[in-house]
Order: sequence, then structure tokens, then C-alpha cells
Amino acid sequence: MQPLRSFSVVPRLPENLQPLWKLAYNLLFSWNGDIVDLFARIDARLWRESENNPVAFINSLPQDVLEELSQDEIFLSRLDETLEELDGYLSRTGSAFSFANQDSSQPVVAYFSFEFGVSPCLPIYSGGLGILAGDHLKSASDLNIPLIGIGLAYQQGYFRQSLSPDGWQTERYPVYDFEQMPMNLVKDEQGQAVRFDVNIGEQRVEVQIWQAKVGRVDLYLMDTNIQENPTEFRQLTTRLYGGDVEMRLQQEVLLGIGGMKALKALGLEPKIIHMNEGHSAFAGLERIRVFMQEQGLNYEAAVELAASSCVFTTHTPVPAGNDRFSPDLMRRYFEGYAQQLGLAFKVFLALGREDPRDDAESFCMTVLALRLSRFNNGVSRLHGQVSRNMWQKVWPQFPTEDVPIGSITNGVHHPSWVADELTFLFDRYLGSNWREEADCEKVWRNAETIPDGELWRTHERLRERLVSFARERLRHELLLKGARQSEVDASEDVLDPQALTIGFARRFATYKRANMILSDKDRLLRMLENTSRPVQFIFAGKAHPQDNEGKKLIQQIVQFCRESNCRSRMVFLQDYDMEVAAHMLHGCDVWLNNPRVPLEACGTSGMKAMVNGVLNLSTLDGWWAEAYKPDNSVGWSIGRGEMYDDHRHQDYVESQILYTLLERDIIPEFYDRGHGNLPRTWVHKMKQALVELGPMFTSHRMVEDYVRVAYLPAYKNFLELTADGGQRAQELAHWRMDMMTKWDGLQLRNIQTQDGGELYVNERVQVSAEVQLNSIAPENVIVEIYSGALDQEGSFVQRGAVEMTCSEYTEDGWAKYSGTFAPGKPGRFGFTVRVLPRHPNLLDPHSLGLIHWAS
Ligand SMILES: *Cc1c(COP(=O)(O)O)cnc(C)c1O
Repeated sequence: MQPLRSFSVVPRLPENLQPLWKLAYNLLFSWNGDIVDLFARIDARLWRESENNPVAFINSLPQDVLEELSQDEIFLSRLDETLEELDGYLSRTGSAFSFANQDSSQPVVAYFSFEFGVSPCLPIYSGGLGILAGDHLKSASDLNIPLIGIGLAYQQGYFRQSLSPDGWQTERYPVYDFEQMPMNLVKDEQGQAVRFDVNIGEQRVEVQIWQAKVGRVDLYLMDTNIQENPTEFRQLTTRLYGGDVEMRLQQEVLLGIGGMKALKALGLEPKIIHMNEGHSAFAGLERIRVFMQEQGLNYEAAVELAASSCVFTTHTPVPAGNDRFSPDLMRRYFEGYAQQLGLAFKVFLALGREDPRDDAESFCMTVLALRLSRFNNGVSRLHGQVSRNMWQKVWPQFPTEDVPIGSITNGVHHPSWVADELTFLFDRYLGSNWREEADCEKVWRNAETIPDGELWRTHERLRERLVSFARERLRHELLLKGARQSEVDASEDVLDPQALTIGFARRFATYKRANMILSDKDRLLRMLENTSRPVQFIFAGKAHPQDNEGKKLIQQIVQFCRESNCRSRMVFLQDYDMEVAAHMLHGCDVWLNNPRVPLEACGTSGMKAMVNGVLNLSTLDGWWAEAYKPDNSVGWSIGRGEMYDDHRHQDYVESQILYTLLERDIIPEFYDRGHGNLPRTWVHKMKQALVELGPMFTSHRMVEDYVRVAYLPAYKNFLELTADGGQRAQELAHWRMDMMTKWDGLQLRNIQTQDGGELYVNERVQVSAEVQLNSIAPENVIVEIYSGALDQEGSFVQRGAVEMTCSEYTEDGWAKYSGTFAPGKPGRFGFTVRVLPRHPNLLDPHSLGLIHWAS
């Protein structure tokens, strides 16, 4: 039996220290070093032990320390300054973007995510997806974008990892006390917790809401652990990715449908919904239901409105990674809901099926999200391409290239991830605006002016810090395990603060191939045992509790560390989290990443490494396929992004490349020391990476991209479609129906070009065509020349589309179109003509799935 919630006795803060709470209850401290300094100044040891949690920290302060502090003039003036800084940040107005006519007390965008990684003290994340969501909120706050986050308050978070003596992962689930964390239960004016209920299947479940402040952005977390709820449903918000398939479905109902209800209970009316991954796709359904109920729209009009103001980001390039639920399970939870939408259950299920007519197909959350959003994107260029391939069946008429899934490459929040020691250098040489203007090329160009020696010495200090951190961690692990004193003492000698340090840390999903470096143990040992050019490895990462293959990888590494004579050159740090990540990303020399292409959608840890001057060594997957320069001037690539059918062969080939790169390039370069023991070539690479990649791979650039290409157009759509009480949404729905009925009657004929089989590069080719519009108005279609290079089989390998213009319109519905195109390079080239729908509220002409090709 667990207590519902425990209460803690807290110290009484003297009046003049009360403002400390304000600093503690805003997660701004996770990217503002001054606030952290202030806490650490009170008691550095207690602060370290509080695991970055200022609320728990203040609550742990002895009363006499507080009394003394309240008399400490120097501290009090520092407190004042820091508060001023916070207030200044929070009250800053103005933004590069404006959402016209927006009520400033209301958010425009609600960002839904299953996990958020904002700070290690709020452990409701498992990996990259959550950290990305956290960085999204932080950049939105910095850029003053009116956005809020919606997620779940997992009382046991994600699991904590320990390893058994033989290296097998075991999971612990500490129960977190929300009262001791930087978040508050949302209460109404009478001081009562704001509650709402949501139907999860047959069960009505009560929900309360926690609010965490992420700078200017509010993060709302739903919690069902309330006495009135049946136990089964109280446990709904216990663990992230913890339960079985049915619990996952229930959690997703809570996130999507509950999330929409939470907004209502909070009096918030965001116009745009951003679904970060398919987990929250039920939010789209709930919006449709509400638009029908409250605005009196019919289903079709409500879909138009909901989809036109929804943004969906997909993250998973592996089919199995996308949540799917069986039709039977869906029936138990959604039969009544489908009725409320006025849909036959089969039609409802079709929303989540790639092939709507396939009754055997399960219900896929990603497909639902794709169908309920008119703006869809992957998280790197390569992942966009992979996603278009993966979901082509949802748009059966379209060539893969035209599947309406674009890409916005992820970024990381620099101020959260750059080591303090480096921020001093950046302040001095990049200018103090490197935080705000993280995506400005001019700012990052200044990285060239950082003196080599200063950068290298700073980096060496960070490596040394990492080594002490690792030793301390290992010592702690050994003490907990009750190891022999000699073993504990030996942890003092682990790792060498001067040695080339290679880091590998991430979730232990098998496609990330954490054990690749072990594939030729002798070759690895030769590197590890070299005393003149020492090399060492630090590993960390958790495997999902049900992923035995992932756990085996951890075990292999741990056993190798143990069995070889290289214990002091290869270590595995337990319980990977944002804190461990930060130390590793600050202090390694090389960040190793060898996922099987193209399974890493983006990968963000490498970006965090890059802004700390840590060089990347990675397969050409995700972001690295965009960032890598073939002259190796910003880091190294393992292979050239080839994809293999034979995985064993691939692993062999790529591991050989990895060893060779290390032996031939990386180790010699690191130890090629010149004047002042500086590795000049290496330091130049560190700087070059900052200059070239710094401005691109930041979450400021990412959030700005979302604002420009997704949020602003979606906002405009929402305003236009809801003006006149939803009249325009109704019209758009009618228009769509009309297009769908008339579309089959489109015809293309008389497609002509000037004669001649041979063309010259860049020579313009005139094309004309006649289109039977079947009484569709010309302004409602786009007629395009679709042209490009052809492969051996005569299929397009690369293509572009040029709009044709209507020159003549005849009585019987035929219109004459013309246009030109020019082949840009020699080789086989082809073209065809196609027709797409056009409407001012349609973000992407492909998203309706209507297309007519010349036959
Ligand atoms: C950045 C980060 C990740 C994501 O790393 P990938 O390279 O995308 O696998 C995972 N976990 C933590 C703690 C991180 O900070």
C-alpha cells in the first residue's frame, strides 16, 4: 500500500528570503547559471545532493542557515539582482513573430507530448523525444512564442537504472513527491484543485493538473492519482512507457482527449495544436468533437477546421515503433466516441488505417495524426524522406516524393547544454547575444576568434571534470553494492584526465548498435592498451525495461569492461539521465554515434556535443547526414550513408571503418601536439564545427522554422475558417466534397512540346496541354509540368514541378495551359503533366490526396 501523497515538513523561510521560492519554482534555473550560482552559494554540498532540485534543496536547509542567510547583506543583494534578472526575463515583450489580434493572456499553440525533458529534477522523459520537447519549450520561452506544453505527471517517472554484478539491467521506481518538485497543483480561486473528468472507455476518470513554469512557458501535466479514482486508473499516470498495450491506449486517451479537456478546465483556448509524435493524436479527434458540439459544425467542416490548424511531427522511422491498437481494443474504448462524431465504427477505424478498406489492419496513431493534420513533418531531411516512403500508402496516388510530409530538422537549446566554463568564452568572443541569437551565423563566425590555447585549456578542464564525475559515480555505485574497500579505492584511478576520451551515451535501442566497438576485441584492446597514445571510452544508457536485446548490449559492454584488463580505460556509468548526459557532453573529446542508417530519425546528443567543442564520429544518419562535411573539417563519418540488406555484413564493414578512422585519423590527430602541447588541427575542427554547425542545429532555429512554416499559416487558417461562426470551415468542407465528386471527371489531352528528340542542358522546353476542368473553376486547380531525370527503368529519380498558366478557356469546359521547363543536367530526362487542387486555406495542395496525372 502506497500513501496517496506524502507531506513534508518544510522550513519557515524568513520574509526577506521568500523570493527564493519564485526562483525555485521556475525551471529557468535549468538554463540560467546565475540562479544556480545563487543556490550553490547557500550550501554547495546540499545543492549538489539535491539533484538539481531547488524546491527540495530549500526544504532541506536547516533553520539556522536560513536565519543566518536572512542577515547576510551580500547574499541578499545577490538575491535581488538575480530576481531582477528573472523578472526582466519574464516581462520582456516583443518577438520577431506576431500572431495578429492575439489576446496576450492566451497561448496560441498547445504542444502535446508524452514526455518532456526540461531538467533532471523533473524526470518525465526517457530520451531524445522528451529532451527535444523540453528544448522546444525553452526556445519558445526565449523567443517569446505564445506556447504551452501538455503532458502527463508520472509519479514514478521513467525507471532508474542499476546493474547487477553480471551487468544485467534492473529497474527501480522511486516514488516522486510532486510537492517537493518545482511544480504546483493548479487551484481555482477558492483554493480548490482544478479538476475535470475524462471518459476512458466506460470509466469516468477524475484528473488534476500540475503546472511547471519553463521560463515564460507553462507546462501542464495531468495526474489521475486521485483518491476518487479506481486503483487501476490511479495508476494511469504512474510510469512513462510502463504498462501494456491497453495501458498505453488509456494513457494516450488521457493525453489527447484529456489534454483538450484540461485546456478547457484551465480556460485556455489555443488555436493551434502541435502533436509531438503520434501519442497525442486523439487530441485531433477531440477537437473535431468539440467543434461539432460547440460551433454546430458538421463532421466534415469540423475536420477541415481541426486539420487546418494542427501540426504533426513524426519521430519514428521504424514501423514497429509506431503505436498500433487492434480493432477489438479500439472498439472497447471508442465505439461510443465514434457515435458522437456521427461515424460508423468502420469509418472511424479507417482514420487510423493506411488502407481504409483493410478490415484486418490495426489502428495506427501515426496514420490518425497524418490524417488529422494538414502540416506533417519529420525531424531531419533524411527522416522526412524515410517518412514519405513509410507512409506513402496513406496517399496512394502520390509518388513518394510528393507525399505531404516535409521536414524540420531538430535543434538543441544551447544555453541549457553548453558547459558553464565555455559560456564564459562564448560571452567574451561570440558576444553576449549568443544565447538569444543562437541561430545567427555572424555570431558563430566569431568562434574563429577564440584563441586556440584558451579553447583547448577550457576543454581540458571539462574533460578533467568529467573524469572526476565518473570516478565519483563509480565510487558511489560500488559503495551502494557493498563492494570491497580495495575495489572502491580502485575507482579513484579509473580513467585518465589527459587521455583521448570517447563517449557513447543514449537509449540502448538495438538499432543504435552500442556494441559495435566491441566487434573486434583484439583491435579494440590494442587501442586501449596503448600507453603512449591512450584512448578511453565512457558508456551510459538505459534499455527499455522490456527490451532484453537492449539489455544484452549493456551486459556485453559491462562484461568486456570487467574481463579485459582495461577497466580503467572503459567504464559504464549507470542511470543515464540529463545530468550524466551533460557531464559527458561537456567533457568527451569524441562523441560516437553509430546507428544503422536510416533508423536514427535525427539524433540530438551529437548537436549538444558539437556546441561544447566535442567532435562527432557518426554514421551518416539523421542530422549528421546534413551536418557532415566530406573534407572531415567538422568531424568524421562512418561510411557514406549506405543502406544494407545484410545487417551482419553491414556491421562488419562499418566496424572496420570505425577502427580504421580511429587508428589512422582520430588518435594521431588528437596526439599531434605542437607548441604549448596544443593539437592545432583538432582545435581548428572544434572551432570549425561551431562556426559551421552552431547556428543551424539550435532549437531557436527549429522553433522559428515551426513558427514560419507551420504555426503562422495554421493560425491564419484558424482565424479565417472560424470567422462568421465557422461559415468558412463549412464552405471549405463543401468545396472539398465538390472537388471530390468532380475530380474523377478531369481529363488531360493534347500534351505537346516542340519537336526534336535531342535537347541541350538548360534549354527551355515549351509544354502545352488541354484540361477538361469538369466545371471546377480554374482558380481551384494547379496544373503542373512534372519533370526530372530518369533512371534505367524510366522512373523519375529527381523531379521538380512548374506551374502552368491558363491561356484560353472554352465553352465546353476545356482550358488550355502552357509552361516551360529546362533540364538542368545531361542524361535521360522526362516530364508529365498533373493537376492538383488549390484553395487559400489548404497549407499543402497534396494533403487532400487528390491528384490527376496525364495518362
Ligand atoms: C540528448 C539526449 C538524448 C538523445 O540523444 P540521441 O543522440 O538522440 O540518442 C537522450 N537522452 C538524454 C538524457 C539526452 O540528453
